[in-house]
Amino acid sequence: MTTSRATPHEKTEVVGCPQCDWVSRRVPLLTNEQSECPRCGYILEDGNNAGQYTLLAVAIAALVLLFASLSVDFIRYSAAGVEQSMTLMDAAWQLSYFHEKVLAVLVLLTVIIIPCIYLLCLIWVYSQLETSGPNRLNLYLLRTMEHLKPWLMTDIFLLGTLVALVKISSLAEVRLLEGFWGFSVFVVLLLFVYERAKRTPVWQYFSVMNRPDLSAQAGLTAGEQGLMTCTLCHALNSRDSRNCYQCTEPQKTSWWRKPGATLALITAGAIMLIPAHWLPVMETVRFGNDQPATIIGGVTELWQSGDKPIAIIVFVASLVIPVAKVLVLGVLLLLARWQTPAMVRNRLLLFKVTDWIGRWSMIDVFVVAILVALVRSGTVMSVYPGSAAVSFAAAVVLTMLAAMSFDTRLFWREADR
Ligand SMILES: [Zn+2]
Ligand SMILES: [Zn+2]
Repeated sequence: MTTSRATPHEKTEVVGCPQCDWVSRRVPLLTNEQSECPRCGYILEDGNNAGQYTLLAVAIAALVLLFASLSVDFIRYSAAGVEQSMTLMDAAWQLSYFHEKVLAVLVLLTVIIIPCIYLLCLIWVYSQLETSGPNRLNLYLLRTMEHLKPWLMTDIFLLGTLVALVKISSLAEVRLLEGFWGFSVFVVLLLFVYERAKRTPVWQYFSVMNRPDLSAQAGLTAGEQGLMTCTLCHALNSRDSRNCYQCTEPQKTSWWRKPGATLALITAGAIMLIPAHWLPVMETVRFGNDQPATIIGGVTELWQSGDKPIAIIVFVASLVIPVAKVLVLGVLLLLARWQTPAMVRNRLLLFKVTDWIGRWSMIDVFVVAILVALVRSGTVMSVYPGSAAVSFAAAVVLTMLAAMSFDTRLFWREADR
C-alpha cells in the first residue's frame, strides 16, 4: 500500500471508477449535475434523480399494465377466411409446443419474468427507503436488480413485433389489439424506471457493514493503492476483502473478467453464428408448400417485397451487429497490448457502442417467436421455428456475456506500461 497524504476527511470523500479504476474526489452534486471520472468520462453520480414515490408509482403502474396485457389478446390476423389471435404468452408457449423449449424459456425470461422480478424488487426496496435501517435482504435485492438489467429486452420485443407485422402484412390482414397497446405503454414505463433508478444511489441506506479504514487517495488507481473498486456500487474495498462492505457483492468473482474467459466466450459466439446463418431460421407452410428460410433469405424477401427499411433493420441486427461485435471484441482484446494512451478513449468508445448495440440482435429471435405464435392455420398458412433460431439466440447471449466479461481497465493497464 502506498503511503497516503490524505487526511481522514478526504479518505471518506473518494470514489472509485469501475471502468478505469481511477480514484477521484467525490463532488457534492446539485440537481441536473453529473460527476464524471476525470480519466475516462464514466458517469460516477447523477444529480438528476427521480423521487422515490415517482419511481414507486411508475413501477406499480408498469406491473399492473404487464399483467393486464397478458390477460388479453395481443395481435389478430386473418388470411383466406381463417382468423387467429395470439396473446403475449403464446409467443413462448407455441415455441415450446414445437419443441424449442430453450428458446421458449429465453423469450419468457427476457420479456415477462425478468422485467417482473426487476419491478417487484424495485417496489419492495424503494418502499423501504425511509423506514428500513441496515438490511441485508434489501442489499441482495438491489444487487439482483443490477444483475438483471442487461436482460430486460421488452423494447427489443416491441420492435420485433413491428418487424413481424411487416413480414406478414402482404399475406394477411393484421390488427393490433389491447394487449399490444398495453404492452407498449408498459415498455415506456419500464424504460423510465430503469433509467431513473440507475441514477439513484441507494446502497448506503441499507449498508450493513462499516466503511473499512482505507487510506485511499485521489489521483491514483485503486490497484496501485492495494484497493479494488466494486463493479456494482463503486465503493473502494481492500483487495483481500471477500465482499464489498457497502453492497455485499462478492469481490472474488473476477475469474470470469479475465481476457481468457472473454476470448473463450467470443469464440463460442462466433462458432454459433455459423449454424445460425447456415440453417433455416423458420419454415413457412403455405397451401401445403414448405418454404424454409434462412436469416439472409428473409432479408432478401423483405427487400424484394418493397419493405426496404425493415429489410435494412433486420440485416443490420442479425448479420452486421453480431459479426461486427465478435470482430470488435476480439480485436480490442488481442490488440490491447499495442496501444498508446491517446488511443484509449477511441477504443473505449468503440467497446461501449458495441456493447450497447449487441442486445438488439435478439430482434430476429423475437420475430420468429411472434410469427410462430400468430400464424397457425394448418396447411393454409403456418410458421414453424427453424433449427437456426436457437443457435442464433445462443450467439447473441454468448457475445453479450463476452462483453460483460470484458474488463475495460485492461485498456489503461496496457497503455500505461
Ligand atoms: Zn474512469
Ligand atoms: Zn459494492
